[in-house]
Amino acid sequence: MPRIKMYTTDFCSYCNRAKRILESKNLEFEEINIHGSAEMRDEIEELTGRRDVPQIFIDQAHIGDDDDLAELAFSGKLDEMFNREGEGTQMEEIKKNSDGNGLEERNVIIIGGGTAGFAAGIYTSRAMLEPLLITGDALGGQLSLTLDLENYPGFFGTEAAKFIQGMQEQAERFGTEVRFDRVTEVDFNRHPFYVKTYDQAYLAKAVIICTGASPRTLNIPGEEKYGGRGVSYCATCDGFFFQEQRLIVVGGGDAAMEEAIFLTRYASEVYIVHRRDQLRASQILQERAFKNDKIKFIWSSIVEEIQGDGEKVTGALLKNVETDETQVFPIDGVFIFVGHIPNTELFEGVIEMDEQDYIVVDNLQSTNIEGVFAAGDVHDHVFRQAITAGGAGAAAAISADKFIAELENRAYPGQ
Ligand code: NDP
Repeated sequence: MPRIKMYTTDFCSYCNRAKRILESKNLEFEEINIHGSAEMRDEIEELTGRRDVPQIFIDQAHIGDDDDLAELAFSGKLDEMFNREGEGTQMEEIKKNSDGNGLEERNVIIIGGGTAGFAAGIYTSRAMLEPLLITGDALGGQLSLTLDLENYPGFFGTEAAKFIQGMQEQAERFGTEVRFDRVTEVDFNRHPFYVKTYDQAYLAKAVIICTGASPRTLNIPGEEKYGGRGVSYCATCDGFFFQEQRLIVVGGGDAAMEEAIFLTRYASEVYIVHRRDQLRASQILQERAFKNDKIKFIWSSIVEEIQGDGEKVTGALLKNVETDETQVFPIDGVFIFVGHIPNTELFEGVIEMDEQDYIVVDNLQSTNIEGVFAAGDVHDHVFRQAITAGGAGAAAAISADKFIAELENRAYPGQ
């Protein structure tokens, strides 16, 4: 059996994602936490040329990070490598539930395993609907990229990773089935609705879309080329690679402030480059950033290009948008936190969206298709908080329960 080795750090959400992928495939792996060991960090960098984690090896071959692992897992190549064809994996369970056509029938399918998805899972399972929750790649959603949770009522200074685990346990305890899989196709023009994933095809009476949002990229020269080689979207995962180095953080929101503050644990200086002369971040995070001696601000400026020596980042071309002046700023790393784009590609032309591609819902969380609901960052570009996503997930679940009750002519509580 090939041996899997995974290099991780202490606060790495993307590492958790990679672990979840392997666990869902019942594959054992050796975890090597490099946090605190400059020697191991340098060894990994030399071996892979990368300054990010996780880095995964199967036998001696470097297969890449969590994205590369997800591709292997979802394409079935990982099963092939281990000669498994599904034995002992969730595929066995799936086959048991399928009808003769390979279709599995469900009351409710929840697409997405973030706060909204798990809240919908808790509520629909307590309504005895035996929901299926398909996690997608980013288990835990946006929260999986946060270190501490400070603003969810009742959870003060809680580790976000523990909070995610708690949501999943709670949903599963009440009967939500959680599958690590990715939805590839939907057909909402028929009822029951058709939902296809890599592993299986389903029919569902109601669907709740909780696919969230993904970090926005800058789309500038050098950004892709130096991804993992000095360009990062996760300070907590990759900060350790930048001990006593100079970093840029791009963005002026809560995420940029929080991550810049975290990076000061390692970096010698952190420059926040923001396109305006005023931050968008909440007052409390602004104050923490302003008070931090290692953080400096470069106002009204954008990064036009990320430059490097072919191996790693060496500088950033900055432009002041008020004066049009440009400068090459010598730097070791660029951390990008410029907001998010909703994960709605799958629903293009199927579900009504606004001009920014967020799903449009009414006050019952219903989309333009009766029986299809949406909750969380996939529709909310105003509040985008874990607490509001959780609330919307619960509301969508109650609406889905009501929809199914009406469909089946059964009494609905409160009617
Ligand atoms: P935001 O949308 O709040 O902020 C994005 C920032 O990036 C803005 O300052 C924006 O500039 C800037 N930006 C956007 N596009 C570009 C671009 N192309 N080039 C340069 N700059 C750009 O996103 P966040 O990820 O910071 O936060 C998302 C949500 O999550 C928010 O609701 C936030 O409150 C929440 N959050 C809360 C945290 C907490 O409470 N601890 C931690 C992290 C997030 P401009 O201001 O000019 O639009």
